[in-house]
Amino acid sequence: MLENQIAIVTGGAVGIGTAIAERFVEDGATVVIADIDEDAGSEVADEIGCTFAHCDVREYDQVESLVDGVVDDHGRLDVVVNNAGISSVTSVEEMDLEEWEAVLETNLDGVMHGTKAALPHLKETDGCIINLGSIYGLVGGKGAASYSAAKGGVINFTQQVAIDYADQGVRVNSICPGFVETPMTEDLLEDERFYNFLEQKTPMDRHGQPEEIAPMAAFLASEEASYITGANIPIDGGWTAF
Ligand code: NAD
Repeated sequence: MLENQIAIVTGGAVGIGTAIAERFVEDGATVVIADIDEDAGSEVADEIGCTFAHCDVREYDQVESLVDGVVDDHGRLDVVVNNAGISSVTSVEEMDLEEWEAVLETNLDGVMHGTKAALPHLKETDGCIINLGSIYGLVGGKGAASYSAAKGGVINFTQQVAIDYADQGVRVNSICPGFVETPMTEDLLEDERFYNFLEQKTPMDRHGQPEEIAPMAAFLASEEASYITGANIPIDGGWTAF
C-alpha cells in the first residue's frame, strides 16, 4: 500500500513506533526511525530494514534538521508519524511543575514540531500526518493529569491542522490507542489491581498489542484513506464505547 512513500516515525525505537515502522517497510515504504534512544533505535532499524536518526522531538531545531535531512536524502517526504511520547500517572496536586512541562514538551510540543517542520514538504507530495493520541485524550484517565492534557491537545491540534491544510492536500489524523503492551506500559500491565480495572473498563477484556495499532497507521497513510482527515480513531477494545 505504501510503495515509493518516504516516511518518518518518531519514537520508533521500541513499542508502537517500531510496529508502525515495520508495517510501513512491509508495505513498501522507505522509513526513517527518529528517537533519543540511539542503541535501541539503531538495532531495530537494522532488524526491520530502515534507517535511524537521532532526534529529540522536544527540540524544534533537531526536528527541522531531521525532516530536511530526509528530504535531502530521498527527495521527498510523504508521511510523518508523530509517535514519540512519555507517560505520567501523577495527579495535579502530587505533580511538580517539571513533570508537567516534560510531558507537555514531549507529547504535545513534539507533535507540533513534527507537524510544523514537515508541512512545507507534505504540501508538495499530498502527504499526511498521523499523530498518536490516546484514549486518555478522549475521556481522561485516573491520575494522568499532564498526559491527558497533552493527548487532549494532540487530538484538537490534529483536527485544527486537518482543517487548515485540507485544501492544500495534506491529511492529518490521530490514532488513540487504549492500553497496549510496550515498554511504556509493562509495569502497569503486570500490576494485578490495575489489570482488574482494565478488564472491567474494556469490553474485550484485554490489553492490545502494537501489531494491532500498526495496520491503522498503514491504512491512514495509504490512498485507501484519501477522504479521511481530522479523524481521531480509538483502537481500544471498546474502552471509549463503554
Ligand atoms: P514507549 O515508551 O514504549 O516508546 C516511546 C518511544 O519514544 C521510545 O523509543 C522513546 O525513546 C521515544 N521518545 C521518548 N521521548 C522522546 C523524545 N523527546 N524524542 C524522541 N523520541 C522520544 O511508548 P509506546 O507505548 O510505544 O507509545 C507510543 C505512543 O503511543 C506515545 O505517544 C504514547 O503516548 C502513545 N500511546 C501509547 C499507549 C500504550 O498503551 N502503550 C496508549 C495510548 C497512547
